[in-house]
Amino acid sequence: MTPTHLPKTFRRRPPLWMVPLFAVVAVLWVFFVWRWGARFTGDASLVGLLLLGLGGIGVVAALMIHTHVRTSLAAAGQTVREDAERDFEVFLNLLPVGTEITDATGRLLYCNQKALEFFGLSETAAKTLDWTHPDFLVLQPDGNPMEPSDRPLNRALLTGRRVQDVVLGVEHEKDGDWVWASVSAEPRFDEAGRVNQVIVTFEDVTKKRTAETELAIQTFRDRLTSLPNRTLFMERLAQAILRTERRKLSTAVLFLDMDRFKVVNDSLGHESGDHLLVQVAKRLRGCLRPEDTVARLGGDEFVILFEDLITINDGLNVAERVSESMKEPFLLDSQEIYATCSMGLALCTLASTSPSDLVRDAEVAMYRAKARGEGGIEIFDPSMNSQALERFQIEGELRRALERNEFILFYQPLVSLRTGLIEGWEALIRWKHPEKGMVPPLNFIPLAEETGLIVPIGKWVIEEAIRQATKWHSDFHSEPPRLMNVNISGRQFQHRELITTVTEALDITGFEASCLKLEITESVMMRDPLASLEAMKVFRGLDIHLVIDDFGTGYSSLSYLKRFPVDTLKVDKSFVDGLGKDAESTAIVGAVISLAKSLGMRVTAEGIETSEQLEMLRALNCDQGQGYFFSRPLPAAQAEELLAKNPVW
Ligand code: C2E
Ligand code: CA
Ligand code: CA
Repeated sequence: MTPTHLPKTFRRRPPLWMVPLFAVVAVLWVFFVWRWGARFTGDASLVGLLLLGLGGIGVVAALMIHTHVRTSLAAAGQTVREDAERDFEVFLNLLPVGTEITDATGRLLYCNQKALEFFGLSETAAKTLDWTHPDFLVLQPDGNPMEPSDRPLNRALLTGRRVQDVVLGVEHEKDGDWVWASVSAEPRFDEAGRVNQVIVTFEDVTKKRTAETELAIQTFRDRLTSLPNRTLFMERLAQAILRTERRKLSTAVLFLDMDRFKVVNDSLGHESGDHLLVQVAKRLRGCLRPEDTVARLGGDEFVILFEDLITINDGLNVAERVSESMKEPFLLDSQEIYATCSMGLALCTLASTSPSDLVRDAEVAMYRAKARGEGGIEIFDPSMNSQALERFQIEGELRRALERNEFILFYQPLVSLRTGLIEGWEALIRWKHPEKGMVPPLNFIPLAEETGLIVPIGKWVIEEAIRQATKWHSDFHSEPPRLMNVNISGRQFQHRELITTVTEALDITGFEASCLKLEITESVMMRDPLASLEAMKVFRGLDIHLVIDDFGTGYSSLSYLKRFPVDTLKVDKSFVDGLGKDAESTAIVGAVISLAKSLGMRVTAEGIETSEQLEMLRALNCDQGQGYFFSRPLPAAQAEELLAKNPVW
């Protein structure tokens, strides 16, 4: 606000120069009366005339002095007021809060700099606005519009009472963001007691509110996908269960776990894995009614809450829709990826069901679906719980199996497709369980991986395989000496201890390092290609050979493949299965073989079961074969019998 200026005339300096003028006139008057006064009046009245004249001059002089003093004082007062007004304005503009004064119709009379900044308005624009207008959108803290009658200015105008600390949001004129303020309004009255002005102050709380919203997001939302997280899901589920009985309808939980997500994460990297999760979350949302909740529990696990289901079929229909929506490929770094989900559905009709039990039931059903193959769905039935219990038991037994010497290695021959002779062996672990008999590795290796038990188990495998191979080298001589392949799991490969384990085992036995081959799956190698490359270089430096196992099932990048110091590619059994049956597999095997040759690598085909497959592989120039056609994996004693026979295929 600019100070109102007073008229110029009021501010002019008083005519001080007139004072000496009057003194001169007074002296002249005395002289005049004394010299010639008697000529006009006679002696008697001379003194009176003199006094009268002097008195007149004195009155005029006094009047002038009075006027002078008054004008001086007024001018001085004006300056003081002006200075105060200017100071006050500076002060208002320095305040960290916005202030404004409106008239009784809501028009702006005054506002400070902070207020203009807060709204992103120019002073002229702010003054032409009708601040009470219902079209002026104001939000409540929960994001819903605030009723015009609830807004502080309007309330103060209507009720004539002070309104304090109402939090509201308005749109910033310039950048369109929502800004938030804590607003107070104080009415002022005219002489008749009517509200004629309102003073409004507002404190900018946008930052604080953003922090609060952040906190709410952190507490209830999954950062990556913005879906509700476990906490929010469990809260909603608990409420839904409570409503279940009242409405005589069911509540259901669908538990989803992505199949082979680990492969994507391992071979394409975590960033791509994250992209995939975001896309999956979007698709899931698209399959649901607005009232259903889909949440991410963590990792690649999602849950969906259905309320008011009439029959279990309603839940199954959604599961079907989810499966359908996953059929379209996902685009990751311009690569098409196909993903499926295994799903488990659990239903509750009783209000006494605990939310966590219901989620666990759905999870158990999902595990069952997964065990039956990828992309399936199972409905929970109580007998499934016993299987979950079994998993728990196995974990305990697995911990004790090492001490009790329950592991044993089987050996499967690796056959040269040129000579038909046994060139080496692959060591394959078995668990000789006291009650369950021989447990195949796929039933416990994943669990051992999860629990970290794979590290000590893997150490035992390396030591045992090297010990066995050393013995065979001395018992069954061959030229060149036969190799021993050992499988290394992801967790082991990451572990620094692996290098020590291997070198120690080699030192103790004196086994030739170049006769040891480590099989690492393609997906593990691609998990962190740079770290893999470094680890591989160490092994190559020790003259140990490396094999890429299950080749074709991960997502190798050719640029890395070229740099990896790998000796052999092992074509996955699934491609060998299709040899001669489907053109695609045949083409892939052919392509892998020529790729390997061009990179200077050897090729092993695993899972050869028929002579036809063997012949085709020979025709394709494959170097090495492995499979039931030659021999199943054998215990050491039977493997020795085979070595003694030294068969030729
Ligand atoms: P893998 O490394 O791909 O091993 C090949 C699997 O294919 C073995 O299954 C083998 O018995 C099987 N196989 C070989 N030829 C044929 C065939 O002609 N037909 C069929 N149907 N199967 C064939 P196994 O022994 O059950 O091992 C399964 C997986 O367990 C292995 O797959 C490997 O990933 C893992 N594994 C086995 N031993 C170890 C170990 O000591 N350490 C680690 N980390 N993993 C191991
Ligand atoms: Ca293998
Ligand atoms: Ca394999």
